[in-house]
Amino acid sequence: MTPVATDLFLRNAGVYGSEHPAGDQLDIRIRRGVLAEIGRNLSPTEQEIIIDASGLIAAPGFIDLHTHLREPGGEHSETIESGSHAAARGGFTRIFCMPNTMPTCDSTASVKQIIDRAREGSGVRVYPVASVTRGLSGEQLTDFGALQRAGAAAFSDDGKPVPDAEIMRFALECTRDIGSVIFDHCEDMSLTGEGVMHEGTVAYRLGLRGIPRASESTLVARDCELSMATGGRLHICHVSNMDSVEIIRFYKSRGAPVTAEVSPHHLVFSEDRVGDYDTNAKMKPPLCEEADRQALITALEDGTIDCIATDHAPHAPNLKADTFDRAPFGIIGMETAFPVLYTNFVATGRWTIEFLIERMTAAPARVMNRSQWCGMPMGTRPHIALLDVETEYEFAVDMLGSKSRNCPWLGSRLRGRSVLTIAAGHLAYIDRQRFPDLEEVTM
Ligand SMILES: [Zn+2]
Repeated sequence: MTPVATDLFLRNAGVYGSEHPAGDQLDIRIRRGVLAEIGRNLSPTEQEIIIDASGLIAAPGFIDLHTHLREPGGEHSETIESGSHAAARGGFTRIFCMPNTMPTCDSTASVKQIIDRAREGSGVRVYPVASVTRGLSGEQLTDFGALQRAGAAAFSDDGKPVPDAEIMRFALECTRDIGSVIFDHCEDMSLTGEGVMHEGTVAYRLGLRGIPRASESTLVARDCELSMATGGRLHICHVSNMDSVEIIRFYKSRGAPVTAEVSPHHLVFSEDRVGDYDTNAKMKPPLCEEADRQALITALEDGTIDCIATDHAPHAPNLKADTFDRAPFGIIGMETAFPVLYTNFVATGRWTIEFLIERMTAAPARVMNRSQWCGMPMGTRPHIALLDVETEYEFAVDMLGSKSRNCPWLGSRLRGRSVLTIAAGHLAYIDRQRFPDLEEVTM
């Protein structure tokens, strides 16, 4: 069922991303799903539902450029609907879904199917990313123009690289001509080989085959060079190590049209997390060393890496319960992105809340060249996450919207989470313990 739009009055929130100074205590009026007013000491009208937001932060809804929703073909792990519930719980209201489904999202019919299915979800906007090559084969390019007209928001073979440099060069020329962007999974499969984690002392001790940094960094270098040569927009996915960071920094300094993202797990974990063969520490690219993690944090802070993206990668429990060698790569991440980053970087005093919100909202909007997604523009259908950053809690299974459970933070003490998410003017998620009176308002 489609969530209904209502007249809402959010009272006394600390508002970020509006015209007012960041953090000001303000009221927000939403009339029939449209942002009508933000100001101090406003008066609610009779038909407005009042939401007491005292002590809460109202931020623009988060934007995730990198998710896997598994539909079609992997519905036991996730669906577009469950994925959009995971997003809403995490405060995300616009998400991009990668095309490595079964079949691959490489036709206009599959792009349209995702858009249609997303309409039945929580109100969260889902933007399909179409593949660069047919069936992710790395060989024959898809019809970029037709796919873009059908609604493809970007192009990627994520999960795999585009191995052939000439094909990548041509793809960048095509996306340049239509004003689109390639989301680049940088991995040289000949260097990855049979590797399952970062090639270093931990892999050696555990007797696991390693993936060298160069598996990522050599492709980052190649594709930055091709982006520079063609003028085609390149967005580097899930940057994981210090060498890639240095290469991106170099090409950005030379004016290459390159942007980059980093995942929460690469910002907070290093290879040690693999510990006793924990499959929830198995992902691609792999968790690297502490020095890499520090380089990623610095790169996000100085803008070398533009934004945060989760790489939300659901795998059904039976798949992740396999041995470390055989379990699939990836973890879910939309529900935990903000809590984990708040707890590790804002609560500790390293970042301001404003910085974290910016890297999860305006920064990804800039990557996609969508200024209309920034902030809280009046007269538009608002995207707002109402965040509780005061209460510490234990992250539990019932806080997941995803169908999968491959989350390394289950059982962790965290601070900061969305207690109410408004996506395009619809109530997409409500913490019912916090707002019991809102029961009958939604859905
Ligand atoms: Zn990837």
